[in-house]
Amino acid sequence: MDEHVLDRSMWELFEHAPCGYVLMLPNGKITRINQTVVDWIGRSREHLLEGRFQDLLTIAGKIFYENQFAPLLRLQGSAHGVAFDLAREGREPLPVLVSSVQNLDDQGAPALIASVLIDATDRRAYERELLHRRLQVEQLAAIVTASSDAIVTTTAHGSILTWNAGAARLFGRTTPDVVGRDVSEILPSLDVRSTFANPGGQLITASAVHLETVASRADQSQIDVSVDATAHLGPLGDVATISFVVRDMSEQRAIERLQQEFLAMTSHELRNPLAVIKARAQLMRRRGYSESAVDAILSSAEDLDRLINDLMLASQIQAERLTLYTTVSDLVAEARAAAEEFADRGFAIRFETAAVEGSVRVEVDRARMHQVFANLLTNAVKYSGECPDVIVRVGHDDHEARVEVIDHGIGIAPEIQPYVFDRFFRAEPTASRIQGVGLGLFITRRIVEAHGGSISVASEPGQGSTFTVRLPCATERLGAAPEPATRL
Ligand code: ADP
Repeated sequence: MDEHVLDRSMWELFEHAPCGYVLMLPNGKITRINQTVVDWIGRSREHLLEGRFQDLLTIAGKIFYENQFAPLLRLQGSAHGVAFDLAREGREPLPVLVSSVQNLDDQGAPALIASVLIDATDRRAYERELLHRRLQVEQLAAIVTASSDAIVTTTAHGSILTWNAGAARLFGRTTPDVVGRDVSEILPSLDVRSTFANPGGQLITASAVHLETVASRADQSQIDVSVDATAHLGPLGDVATISFVVRDMSEQRAIERLQQEFLAMTSHELRNPLAVIKARAQLMRRRGYSESAVDAILSSAEDLDRLINDLMLASQIQAERLTLYTTVSDLVAEARAAAEEFADRGFAIRFETAAVEGSVRVEVDRARMHQVFANLLTNAVKYSGECPDVIVRVGHDDHEARVEVIDHGIGIAPEIQPYVFDRFFRAEPTASRIQGVGLGLFITRRIVEAHGGSISVASEPGQGSTFTVRLPCATERLGAAPEPATRL
């Protein structure tokens, strides 16, 4: 081939290559530079040939070049793929990757540095995108880890792959315990094949499937859960993994059950006194005025009133909106008044105390405290059969006042005593025979606790029960002005 043509082609290749070429002296002084770099920088070749390689770089690049890159080059003789930004005239810096080789003269001293510059714009963009994706993945992973829901992934055939902390909490099993096991061990009623397979039995993708089901825990107990299952496609278009988001619905279900029981119970309890009122009123319409019918109507209306009050109070307590208006009062007088009220209604109530009137001072909301005694006395009478025999006893020491309501009725079995103060709790089989909604003791305990006191029960079936209310003694004078409202 013609030498001249070859030289020109080599020159063309050097000048217009898709990468930059720079030849420089060991101090960086540029001796040759190709057209590609000239175009990138946007200044004349003459101008560039007067300067040093480091002058082509941004300030940060220049510092890095002088402190790191040049010494490395001197030491190693070459450096490969180091990222720099070229400072350009009136344009954004251009990211490049620089590879340099140091050539030596005949005496072995550094003579010339040859550098190749590759445009790294696409690579930078790709790296940024990769970083962005990585952050996204890390964020998602953090969400999965922190989620209170159980998040589980499986293979297309239901073999467990991952298991987050929510799953460990919900099912009581750790990751090493479950990885590789079948998801049907925790969700027995879920059939992965029929959920995600087409009629031919082939696994296909599906939009998220939602179902309410029962899950099994490590201790074999069952919990109500809701499951959102989604199949994810692999690169070949078939189902690669399935994810399950499992939420504990036991509390929600318990609330729903409670609401249903509550509705059933309250409508029954509201209907009873209403039926009496209706029947007695109809009787009076047929036969004219009757003293006993009016008494029955009034007493049923009072029952209704009490029930509605209890329901409202229980909902106030539940919403933490119970307000107390307290005054320093005499507990002996308060308890005696409640006992006398019941005695006046014809019940056998005895009142006992060693304390003299005015000596047991407590700071209470008198109306609420009256309700406490009335609830305890109502129960004492209600759960005593034909002949109630009830004692109200007031006692105290230096710091604590006590009121005991003692009955000799049916008593409470030891295993259910811890639950009698729970909302809507009623002991069977008496519950179906004796009227009530299971709110009295719940309200009573909350009122006593709102006063800084406590309530307990001691009971023996067939012998009777003793409910003891304990309240802190007041330090101020009796009958002080009502305290500003305090809330539960
Ligand atoms: P209710 O009387 O409306 O059922 P309570 O909250 O007052 O509701 O009482 C809850 C349950 O505790 C009652 O259903 C009953 O089983 C039991 N109980 C309460 N007081 C007594 C008592 N003095 N003797 C026996 N059982 C009682």
